Amino acid sequence: MKILVCIRQGLDGEINPFDACAYEEALKVKNAEVILLSMGPQSAKDFLLRLTRLGAKKAILLSDKVFAGADTLATAYTLSLAVKKINPDLVFCGRQTLVGDTAQTGPMLSVLAQTQLITNVMSIDEIGETVTCTTRDNGIQTVTLPALLTIERINNLRLPSIMSKLGEVEVWSAEDIGADKEKCGLAGSPTRVVKTFQNESGKRKCKFITDNELPQVISEALKKQNEDIVKTQLSSQKLSKVFIVGEGPRPFAETVSDDITILPLTNAEDLAQKITELKPNAVLWGSDSLSKKVSAQVGAMLGLGLCADCTLLETDGEELYMYRPALSGSVIAKIVSCTKPAMATVRTTQNASDVVVAAGYGARDFLDLVKAFADKIGADMATTRKAVDNDILPYNMQVGLTGKTVSPPVYIAVGVSGAVHHIAGMQRAGTVIAINPDKDAPIFDYADYGILGDAREVLK
Ligand SMILES: Cc1cc2nc3c(=O)[nH]c(=O)nc-3n(C[C@H](O)[C@H](O)[C@H](O)COP(=O)(O)OP(=O)(O)OC[C@H]3O[C@@H](n4cnc5c(N)ncnc54)[C@H](O)[C@@H]3O)c2cc1C
Repeated sequence: MKILVCIRQGLDGEINPFDACAYEEALKVKNAEVILLSMGPQSAKDFLLRLTRLGAKKAILLSDKVFAGADTLATAYTLSLAVKKINPDLVFCGRQTLVGDTAQTGPMLSVLAQTQLITNVMSIDEIGETVTCTTRDNGIQTVTLPALLTIERINNLRLPSIMSKLGEVEVWSAEDIGADKEKCGLAGSPTRVVKTFQNESGKRKCKFITDNELPQVISEALKKQNEDIVKTQLSSQKLSKVFIVGEGPRPFAETVSDDITILPLTNAEDLAQKITELKPNAVLWGSDSLSKKVSAQVGAMLGLGLCADCTLLETDGEELYMYRPALSGSVIAKIVSCTKPAMATVRTTQNASDVVVAAGYGARDFLDLVKAFADKIGADMATTRKAVDNDILPYNMQVGLTGKTVSPPVYIAVGVSGAVHHIAGMQRAGTVIAINPDKDAPIFDYADYGILGDAREVLK
């Protein structure tokens, strides 16, 4: 069994956290030959060499100046040539990188390398002629080999043992993999960043209230009919023939078009065919895991740019301008697509209830109280990464950059400090209420209402 693990070096020089989980899962497979694959500058050679100490005998670095500036499609194209050359049984990728944060490269790579695909893997249950995995949102799935799996943050990468040996690192150029230079790097990237600016989105003016006012604030917020932030930013020019896949992206589509057609979210082959036949100007997708997977597959099938997780759209009647948070949410990038139709996933809601109660690490000693409060008001529960990392609540509840995105009409943050990584996952909520005894907690900068106090007292 040959397992190829795709690795990206983060801006901090360390392995991307999701890729670390993919590597650990590969190392756990008995009798597997594990090979690492990365695209990056020559300097990444040492980084890969260090990683071989954990068990991979070999690492391949794709390094060539024509690879620079690649978006997800150009990256997937380049990686796919190496995958074909190595011919593994399984390819493991992290769900997403923290730099790009799109979750597109894995699904695109599976199309271009012609493998089966399972995304958002929470556990690998069986490997033989087929591979069976439990996924985060779409149950248990089985596919035949060769297959590509995108792995969630489900484990911790082992440390090297004292006895461990270094493997070898090979550096492959564009020529070594027979790459068409027009399809690599910046030249082969259909999406272009036009501009970046500081991300101030999500910031709100917090009004402090007392415990007694909480029920009334919640019920008034619910009555406000989920006014969507995006609806207040209508473009004056309109784009014709915009397709939405599923109902989720409609509020975004309405900001840029009066000519909207809905397509059901079926499979990538059908949707690619419809888009080719009907030639829309733009196609908008939701940001649930299935939409993300299928949109990336369609992007790879049709060679189209795909901008991930847009929080705002604009048009001048010709181009679609897509705005998305980048670099852990610290900046906003304005992006256009050089290919038509322009395609984007937009931050749609993934919550079932109108109210989400997030219990952060600060609520760890009185979780029962928070749960009882959530039950009483019919709310879904969510949490932060710190609570997940400390085994307080499960990963599928984690909201944020490395968790899921929610945008319920009401979001109540209990014992949540408001780190930028958490805010990235909830900043489009309708009304945000924070309960925290620390008046300097950043969460109050992102809340409409705040209760300054011990949540144990407030919720009892
Ligand atoms: C690359 C990367 C990705 C990340 N991705 C995510 C992500 O997806 N999601 C995420 O959430 N985080 C993420 N993080 C972690 C993030 O930076 C924070 O560490 C995390 O969100 C903090 O969790 P917290 O607010 O629960 O805990 P803390 O920061 O410890 O805050 C606890 C809060 O509880 C308050 N508190 C204490 N006692 C009480 C009480 N009795 N009542 C009420 N309040 C109380 C405290 O005042 C404090 O503000 C990521 C970090 C990195 C580096």
